[in-house]
Amino acid sequence: MTESKSDLMMKYGPNCICPKCPSYNKCAQFRSQRAFCIAGKSPSDCIKNEKGCVCGDCPVGNELGKKEQYYCRYDL
Ligand code: SF4
Ligand code: SF4
Repeated sequence: MTESKSDLMMKYGPNCICPKCPSYNKCAQFRSQRAFCIAGKSPSDCIKNEKGCVCGDCPVGNELGKKEQYYCRYDL
């Protein structure tokens, strides 16, 4: 059975390290945005500036085989 996006968010969201990323900001924090590699890019374009991306160090990204960066900025 394929897991839905919300199932994946429940399962992996807490382990996303986006909140430790230099590009993550108050707007995203205020809206509890994270796990953009599952959810899609940041709604309302909260994250506008690319100040680095730590996806490469993330256990979720590694487990799901996510190889890109800046999932918060683009639907990859
Ligand atoms: S997707 Fe990458 S750049 Fe965006 S907040 Fe997460 S770790 Fe940072
Ligand atoms: S790979 Fe990036 S967007 Fe996906 S959960 Fe990890 S830090 Fe968050």
